[in-house]
Amino acid sequence: MQQSVKLRSEKTTGVRILSLAPMMGWEKIFNKKTKILILKSGNPGNKKVVIISSLHGNELSGFLLLKKLKKALLPISEKNQCQIILIPFLNVEGIRKKTRNDPISNQDLNRCFEKKNPPSSISFLKLILKNSSLVLDLHCFPETRQTLTGLLFTSKKNEKISSKNKALLNIFSPKIIWHLDFDDLDKSKIGSLGKWLTENNIPNLAIETESPEFLKTTEVISICQKIKKLIISTLSKNENPNTSCLPIFKRKVIFSPKEGIFTPEVKKMELVKKGKIIGSITDLNFGESKVVTNFTGKVVFIRNTVFVKKGEKLAGIAVKEE
Ligand SMILES: [Zn+2]
Repeated sequence: MQQSVKLRSEKTTGVRILSLAPMMGWEKIFNKKTKILILKSGNPGNKKVVIISSLHGNELSGFLLLKKLKKALLPISEKNQCQIILIPFLNVEGIRKKTRNDPISNQDLNRCFEKKNPPSSISFLKLILKNSSLVLDLHCFPETRQTLTGLLFTSKKNEKISSKNKALLNIFSPKIIWHLDFDDLDKSKIGSLGKWLTENNIPNLAIETESPEFLKTTEVISICQKIKKLIISTLSKNENPNTSCLPIFKRKVIFSPKEGIFTPEVKKMELVKKGKIIGSITDLNFGESKVVTNFTGKVVFIRNTVFVKKGEKLAGIAVKEE
């Protein structure tokens, strides 16, 4: 195992001396081909936990969490002799170009996991994820108010991993759990990381947080505590599946009917009934159209005042699962 040796300066009776102190730490590894930076701590001998941020280049909340977690997770990895891997910037070029997709392959990386020849970053990521005990994938929607949401991935063909993922979400306890079952999954989600992990028996969850401009420091701290709890539970010898069950929802999305400036008229977590106006679109002719919901449920996310194109997501409504 590699140990990083850090020069530490100490003050002793007013004389500064430099001592060589062997320290455990984050090993930074830069993959030249994919330009992906990895922070690695500990041995893979016991268990391996991987946290991924910015699979979508325009989603920047995750690195704010990783900044805090970097410090908090190091003692956990040392104490439990496990390996923790942080990937703060998966879609590096997407971050540079401020785009959701990978600008090199022009693809949504979160739809490439089942491709025969995926972009090199995805092939590289798959190797890292192999034999993981827990994979956490961090997302947010830009310029959007978002309730802390956990994404539950299940497959009817694999009860064991489905209940394991459910237990993980109960430990993390987000405000809303949104359920994706791959057997009835809408076609647009094929090739996603969660589906690939679930089908490869790797326990996983994804979370969606507030967009960075709305993410308060207190929320960052609270989410990091939840992540810490999740990791400690994964690493404990007697992993008790949490039996308390949070309500699970299906997420219904309201898309923009035209281009224009969207102005929201509801707040996140507000209960809305079918037919309720959730906002308006002012087109560039200064005409206004109201946007109504076709679903009854809680508002999971709602766009801030922003210019939208036809077909863009405006809001997500959590509808009770039957
Ligand atoms: Zn995303």
